[in-house]
Amino acid sequence: MTAQAPGWYAAGLGHVWLPYTQMKTVTPPLPVARTEGTRIHLADGRVLIDGIASWWTACHGYNHPHIRAAATRQLEQLPHVMFGGLVQEPALTLARRLAALLPGDLSRVFFSDSGSVSVEIAMKMATQYFLNRGVTGKGKFLSFRHGYHGDTIGTMAVCDPDEGMHSLFTDLLPRHFIADLPVDDESAAAFDTVLDAHGDEIAGILVEPLVQGAGGMKFHDAAVLRRLRAAADRIGALLIFDEIFVGFGRTGTMFACEAAGVVPDIVTLSKALTGGTMALAATVATTRVFDAFWDDRASAALMHGPTYMGNALACAVANASLDLFEREPRLDQVRAIEGWLRARLPQCRDLPGVVDVRVKGAIGVVQLDRIGDLNALKRAFVEAGVWVRPFGDIVYLTPAFTVTEDEVDILTGAIRKVLAAR
Ligand SMILES: *Cc1c(COP(=O)(O)O)cnc(C)c1O
Repeated sequence: MTAQAPGWYAAGLGHVWLPYTQMKTVTPPLPVARTEGTRIHLADGRVLIDGIASWWTACHGYNHPHIRAAATRQLEQLPHVMFGGLVQEPALTLARRLAALLPGDLSRVFFSDSGSVSVEIAMKMATQYFLNRGVTGKGKFLSFRHGYHGDTIGTMAVCDPDEGMHSLFTDLLPRHFIADLPVDDESAAAFDTVLDAHGDEIAGILVEPLVQGAGGMKFHDAAVLRRLRAAADRIGALLIFDEIFVGFGRTGTMFACEAAGVVPDIVTLSKALTGGTMALAATVATTRVFDAFWDDRASAALMHGPTYMGNALACAVANASLDLFEREPRLDQVRAIEGWLRARLPQCRDLPGVVDVRVKGAIGVVQLDRIGDLNALKRAFVEAGVWVRPFGDIVYLTPAFTVTEDEVDILTGAIRKVLAAR
């Protein structure tokens, strides 16, 4: 950092533990003074164009005036009240709107505060769904290599075994079934073998539809999702779509399940749910799933309830985000971004070490044979005036949907320049 580092930086940095970070060798994080649109203003006066929208949450850009106004209004009236025995307008309105947006009869919304927890809730729901109906022995999940569903212990167990560091936590993690996505004949045969051998143990098939995000931004076709729907029906398991990454327009439709014409039994949402402003997540179940909990027995109830469940401020912000999807041409913007990325990113194909370039919706990926010095690469992007954070073997863009063509030009140009200089 430079001499302009604010006092709070030096005083506080020694007391935080940063995410996914070797604290000893980390390049010091950059102090941010403010955000606006697609720009991150650093404390030292530099301004970065954001290529990843804070882990693809800030889909309308930062500090959108409509979201800011909704937050301010809600803050004055009712920031939070417990969801046990009390309800408020923002949460009920958001639940109604999500139910209307999602396909089929995905119509019961269980709120929580983070993506990982919403997946844990989906797993509890699926397990208890069968117990409530008198079906025993279904305590396992089937998930996929390169999948990512969160960092809590329950969700780590359904992540990619290598990425999720299953070997480090062998004694801690429950065992589930992890298969390759059935994308071709060979993988489909291996997948069917798991279903034949263990189908009656499996409560749910859990997948990130269309794009496996944090596990490497790997894409698959909608046909794979139809195959998973048929597989779940065949073994009598629930189909769970983790739409935390792809939900709210990222791949070109409001939800990825729409592109496949598949209605899952449970959907998880978070990330862009509040347009990047507040922590909020939702687990949405179909009527059939909900009905298994609708019972005279208290023991059939879903025993879960995060303290900040249905937080009114977060729900008001999420409603404002949904307003923006209605009022502004977000999905058209995603299509335009897809075109801009397709016109520019393939120019990286000839650079040394580039093994693949792919684009889907407002997601652009350059995959390398190996990254090498990750910290140096991250620094080079900052020096180029952009906020781009490579991980694993990829450099990616997931910009705000409000990004301009000029900004996409700068972002893709910076990737080309930085990778060429490697
Ligand atoms: C980010 C993410 C999660 C975890 O969400 P957190 O809010 O970080 O707990 C789960 N699933 C997918 C697909 C994600 O992208």
